[in-house]
Amino acid sequence: MLKRLLFLIILFSFFSLNAKDIKYIFYFIGDGMGRAQVEGTEYYLSYLESKGNYIGRKKLNMSMLPVQGLASTFSYDSYITDSAAAATALGSGYKTKNGTVALDENLKIKDRTLAEKLRDKGFQIALITSVSIDHATPACFYAHRAKRKDYVNIAKDLATFRPDFLASGGLKKTKAQEILKGGDYLLVNTTKEILNAPKNKKIYLAPKTPASGTSLPYAIDRKEGDLSLKEICRSAIDRLVKKGKFFMMLEGGKIDWACHENDSATVVKEIIDFDNAIACAVEFAKKYPDETLIVVTADHECGACTLGRNLTKYKLFFDVIDKQKVSGEKFTFLSSKILKEKSFKKLDKEAQFKEILKLIKETYSMSINEKDNNKYLTLTPKELSRIKNAFDYVAGYKSVKEKKVLYGVYDPLAITLNDIIAKRLGFAWSSTSHSGVSVGVSAYGSDKFSKHIDNCDIPKIILDLVNKK
Ligand SMILES: [Zn+2]
Repeated sequence: MLKRLLFLIILFSFFSLNAKDIKYIFYFIGDGMGRAQVEGTEYYLSYLESKGNYIGRKKLNMSMLPVQGLASTFSYDSYITDSAAAATALGSGYKTKNGTVALDENLKIKDRTLAEKLRDKGFQIALITSVSIDHATPACFYAHRAKRKDYVNIAKDLATFRPDFLASGGLKKTKAQEILKGGDYLLVNTTKEILNAPKNKKIYLAPKTPASGTSLPYAIDRKEGDLSLKEICRSAIDRLVKKGKFFMMLEGGKIDWACHENDSATVVKEIIDFDNAIACAVEFAKKYPDETLIVVTADHECGACTLGRNLTKYKLFFDVIDKQKVSGEKFTFLSSKILKEKSFKKLDKEAQFKEILKLIKETYSMSINEKDNNKYLTLTPKELSRIKNAFDYVAGYKSVKEKKVLYGVYDPLAITLNDIIAKRLGFAWSSTSHSGVSVGVSAYGSDKFSKHIDNCDIPKIILDLVNKK
């Protein structure tokens, strides 16, 4: 830790805040990553370091960058943006209506994207995300479409733009072999395969078996051999730097998904994981201090998250976070599997619920057995009855219509368990959608990001810096 701090102090004090000749641009976007989520993560890290003995804030890499600012996120037609309008602003520098991919409010191409312009200036383009590469955020760097869910045509735009390095959970509606055919791409499933890839090939990296929603698994669920953003970032740097200038957009796309589900523990682990990729860029800046620009921001906040709630008063209980062993997404996967089993269907309702409670104990460390108090979170009668109610909906004992009203598109059990964790932890989520607050902006290589700017300013500043040199 001390070594890392010293390194950053040396790095950022010896070199001017403003890079002289920008050749390497890192653009990190934490989807849905609000300030409360970032600070909650930093408090959690401090809690781990101090073993709960003192109160502090252990800064993430993004918070240690020398320039810190804020950006507003409203879209053309709403104070609360969606990811497509936000990424249009972050990727092209203009406001548009929610749901629109790099087109203006009249569905016209107002300007080319930052990636398109930088490519013309000789930059190699790398687009990396933990979700699918045709998802709103990455799409806004290469596609121009009226609807963010127009995955087929977004993929067509990808086939036209052909970035030098692509890594993601995959593609939603199309096959990479089909849209990236032509022999210029090498399609791989692991970063190892990139090591010996011919120099003239572009890279498309995606796991053989993606997680739910064509994504990479959450950090909390990661198994050996699963791709991580850090590993991908490092491998992209190694490949691209040999050929010269590059622009890398790297999105932590599932921070947002976990925020939508109010899954506090998964959010915290996902932000740490995203920040580990930022560490690779910081390490790189040490080698090329005058030629590197790093910008870290979010497209919007998600979940209307704050730290503190009535139940926990002035306290946050970070020990709760590590009690949760899997994401809500993984829990849904595991519980749906059990619910479909023939042997499960034969059981009476009470026995079925016992089976689900067993899974809840294994995954969320929640138990009805008070003797387990240290290792497990002992459920209160009210919590247990909430879980029972959610179970009635997932197991088909209550109407589907009602389920939708009560739980929206979310898995009743997972969202209930996430809520119990949040209540005990002290994170307050007041929405399962985005909110309209400003997001943090952190940078290395330019002091232009130190104010309260607008999200549209970010690509403009980046281009100005490149053009100025
Ligand atoms: Zn978003």
